[in-house]
Amino acid sequence: MKRTYLDYAATTPTHPDVLKAMLPYFTDAFGNPSSIYSYGQEAKGAIGEARAKVASLIGARDEEIVFTSGGTEADNFALKGVAFANEERGNHIITSSIEHHAVIETCKYLERRGFNITYLPVDEYGLVDPGDVRRAITEKTVLISVMHANNEIGTIEPIAEIGKIAREAGVYFHTDAVQAVGHIPVDVNKLGVDLLSMSAHKLYGPKGVGALYIRKGTRLVSFMHGGEQEGRRRASTENVPGIVGFGKAAELARQEMGEEAERLIHLRDKLIGGLLESIDHVHLNGHPVKRLPNNINVSIDFVEGESMLLNLDLEGICASTGSACSSSNLEASHVLLAIGLPHEQAHGSLRFTLGKWTSEEEVEQVLEVLPGIVAKLRAMSPLLRSQR
Ligand code: PLP
Repeated sequence: MKRTYLDYAATTPTHPDVLKAMLPYFTDAFGNPSSIYSYGQEAKGAIGEARAKVASLIGARDEEIVFTSGGTEADNFALKGVAFANEERGNHIITSSIEHHAVIETCKYLERRGFNITYLPVDEYGLVDPGDVRRAITEKTVLISVMHANNEIGTIEPIAEIGKIAREAGVYFHTDAVQAVGHIPVDVNKLGVDLLSMSAHKLYGPKGVGALYIRKGTRLVSFMHGGEQEGRRRASTENVPGIVGFGKAAELARQEMGEEAERLIHLRDKLIGGLLESIDHVHLNGHPVKRLPNNINVSIDFVEGESMLLNLDLEGICASTGSACSSSNLEASHVLLAIGLPHEQAHGSLRFTLGKWTSEEEVEQVLEVLPGIVAKLRAMSPLLRSQR
């Protein structure tokens, strides 16, 4: 059966050009970048080129990019790094209630270590109010961390406005831009961020590699101790093929992002419009306009997300009910609860995320099969019967 992959926010396939760029670094050019002979220097040079490509995708300087093992490590590094380096200044951190687990769980850990965390609410679209950020700042605040774009509902946060507030207050500002980088324009100076997390596998690069942008002069401690790699910020022999792949993916994203976003917005809106039209009791989650070009998240009343997912899978369609990490967890999504959905609606949500290889036909396939699946499930639904 032909498979229709509509879960690009969970991960993307590695682009063939990215794979091609990576392959030599597993074989002929396998050197350790710390070695001084030619093999080492070749690998070191490749890392330098990749760093420049990643930096230029987000308007940073090369030396402000530190490669990590992924988005989760970048988030951990930013939050713990700033918290522990600035403890004598204060112990208060501001974040939002819809962050990825990589941020939320790190904040919970920091709470256990004596930090106070403010989890800001969001509105019905998932937007953080910059005014709330300003009001939450105290003289003990050392860091604000608000994600650039939400992985479940696709809402794009007012990062530049929050950046201005953070700058005026003299507080460090981190954004988890894992879902934004490579998909929408991101410029660290226009956004006014001091730290920004990225992950290669969300933009057609390989898994297990990411980066943290660290603005020059930012005080943070490292938590990987050992060798002197990555400007002494992150010890361990570099993942050379992964970093080269990330660099190539960043280069491709820079070239293709504009046109690709337009194509995806057309497909996204076609799918949203089609679902709202062909199924009754459907609600769009997230902001209608301030959303990622590839994100569709809907709640469909009187059916369970998991049942829809399994039925879609039988038709060869891969989608998600929430973030990848929670798709095996039957608790309602904290993001959907934070935007005010009741538990039943949060459990009846579906996320489709489109990408480079998504075609018009695939969108039409969803519109053809989903209404039938919903009708079948509703006919068996105790949720619906209790409403009648
Ligand atoms: N932050 C966000 C917003 C994400 O969507 C993800 C992955 O789903 C991560 C962080 C974690 O990234 P990684 O899988 O590279 O650790």
